[in-house]
Amino acid sequence: MKSRQEERLVTEAWFHPADQPMENMPRWEYHVHSDFSDGTSSVSAVIGAARARGIQRLILTEHTEPELVAGPGWFERYVRTVRDLRQSEAGTMEVVIGLEVPIVDLEGNLLASEAMLDEAEFVLGAVHAYPGYGWDLSGIDPGRAIELEFRGLMVLADHPRVHAIAHPGGVCGKYVTPFPMELFEDVVIRARERGKAIELNPAYHHPMGPFLEICRRHGVLLSPGSNAHHPDEIGLAWEVLQELRP
Ligand SMILES: [Zn+2]
Ligand SMILES: [Zn+2]
Repeated sequence: MKSRQEERLVTEAWFHPADQPMENMPRWEYHVHSDFSDGTSSVSAVIGAARARGIQRLILTEHTEPELVAGPGWFERYVRTVRDLRQSEAGTMEVVIGLEVPIVDLEGNLLASEAMLDEAEFVLGAVHAYPGYGWDLSGIDPGRAIELEFRGLMVLADHPRVHAIAHPGGVCGKYVTPFPMELFEDVVIRARERGKAIELNPAYHHPMGPFLEICRRHGVLLSPGSNAHHPDEIGLAWEVLQELRP
């Protein structure tokens, strides 16, 4: 029986170096939401779908924004539920209790309590609502959006609690203006220096090829995340990466 500390230990081996052949990447899915946050399905249904798709490590990454979670006490119920259900997957699929945690400012504060960060086995740091702006980015100056996204991503790369950086450049690119690839590259370089993984996420990095190319050039660790809010989306990031292999 592994200790809690060992169970929680995210090692470099959890991620695939971008300069290694993609076909060597096991079937990993590192970005999934159940109905404990804004996903459509129960943890049980998510696990069943991942098992059916041959996923070898499934990381649930529930949001922590209060407007996206399943009411008071959701986190404790989430942890308990995953701990109960994953026992029957032991030996075939590893199921990990993760969180997708946004920054709340540019000083390194995250939207999660210390207790939650202690309990979570995997922390996917994200830039979501830009500090000072909230969710509504209509009318934001494109240059300002690029700056806030970039600074937020660098905060995450430097953050000791963060294991992987969710969809870098994605919010800016999806809702405001294309995020400059040279800034994406700067984030990749910083992540590489800090031993953090870069998430490649088909919901935001489309087409993914140019993003993978930059990651490959720097040999950064990759975190394959599909942003799955429905079981049918599980495994998509891994599949896209397989198609992109040279
Ligand atoms: Zn969501
Ligand atoms: Zn996100």
